[in-house]
Amino acid sequence: MTTDIHTGPGSSGRNAPLIEVRDLVTSFSTEAGRIKAIEGVGFIVRKGRILGIVGESGCGKSVTALSIMRLLPKPSGVIERGEIRLRGQDIAQLPVEGMNHIRGRQISMIFQEPMTALNPVHKIGRQLREVFDIHRSDLSKAQARTACIELLQKVGIPDPESRMDEYVHQISGGMRQRVMIAMALAGKPDILIADEPTTALDVTIQAQILQLILDLQAETGMAVIFITHDLGVIAEMCDDVLVMYAGKVAESASVKDLFSTPKHPYTQGLLRSIPTLDSRRKTILPVIDGMVPSLFDLPAGCRFQNRCPRAMPICETEPPPLYRVGSGHAVSCYLYDNIKDESAGG
Ligand code: SF4
Repeated sequence: MTTDIHTGPGSSGRNAPLIEVRDLVTSFSTEAGRIKAIEGVGFIVRKGRILGIVGESGCGKSVTALSIMRLLPKPSGVIERGEIRLRGQDIAQLPVEGMNHIRGRQISMIFQEPMTALNPVHKIGRQLREVFDIHRSDLSKAQARTACIELLQKVGIPDPESRMDEYVHQISGGMRQRVMIAMALAGKPDILIADEPTTALDVTIQAQILQLILDLQAETGMAVIFITHDLGVIAEMCDDVLVMYAGKVAESASVKDLFSTPKHPYTQGLLRSIPTLDSRRKTILPVIDGMVPSLFDLPAGCRFQNRCPRAMPICETEPPPLYRVGSGHAVSCYLYDNIKDESAGG
C-alpha cells in the first residue's frame, strides 16, 4: 500500500518537494527470521517546513530516518521497496559513493546521544575540521579553523576558540549536542534529520536545544524532520506531523489539524493521555490499554485492532488503506471508509 502524505503548501515550482518518500519498506534479518520494521511509509517535506514523526518506541521512526540516510546496520537492514526522492532523484538504492556526496551536504542527521556519535579520543576542533575537509575542501587550514570557530559560536558555544582544544568528555551533554548540530550544519544541508536530539538532556537544556534548532531552521530555511515520542515537542516545533504505529503511518496532518481534529483512534488516545494545565491534581490520565503488537507476530488487518475501542470485524482481516479526510490530512482507519473515493492511496 502506498501512503503518500503531502505536507506543506503547493506541489510544484518554487515549493517542490525537497524529499519525497514513497511506499518505503525496510526489513531486518534476525535470528527468528526477517521482519519488516516499516511498511508502506510515505511523506513529503518541502523547503522551510518542519515535519515531526511521532510514535512509541519501536514504531519505526528511527528506522525511517536511518533508511533516508542509508545508515541502516549492515548487513541485516535492507530497504526492500519504495522510493526516497531527494529533489527528484531516487536515492533508495544509490551506491555508497553516491550517498557520500549527499550525506552532510544535502541531508544531515543529529542523533539522540551525541557521545556515541562523537569521537572521545579526538579534540572537538579536529572532529569539526574533518567535516569541513570533506565538505569544504576549498578552504585553507586557517580558513577552516575560522569557519569551525564561527560555527561553534553560531550554535551557542561560549568561548569557542578554547573549546576547539577540548575533548568531548570535558563538556556537558547540552554542549555536546550543540557540537553535533555544528557538525551537521557544516555542509549547509537542505534537510536536517533530528532523531530525539534532546532525550538524553535535562529539561532546561532540552528547551535550549529545541530553540536552537528552530532558530537555525528559520535562519537557513532548511527543512527539518524531527523525530520524537513527545507530542508536546511536536506542538512546539513542527508544521506537519506523521503519527506512526507498529511500522506504519496511522495519520498525517498539519500540526494544527492533528491537535484540533485528530482522526485515528490511536492519535485520539495519545492526545487524551497528555496532561493539560487545567487537569486536576492527582487525576489519573487516560491510557491506551494493551500493548503494541510484536513485529514478529503482527495481526492480519489493522495493527491497532487489539487496542482500538472502535474496532469492527473488517479491521481484523484487511489492513486499512490511507483515506484523505481533508487538505493534507490522511488517516489509515476504516472509520473513514465512507470517503473511500478520496482515498490517499492503497
Ligand atoms: Fe480501530 Fe479499525 Fe480504525 Fe484500526 S481500522 S483504528 S481497528 S477502527
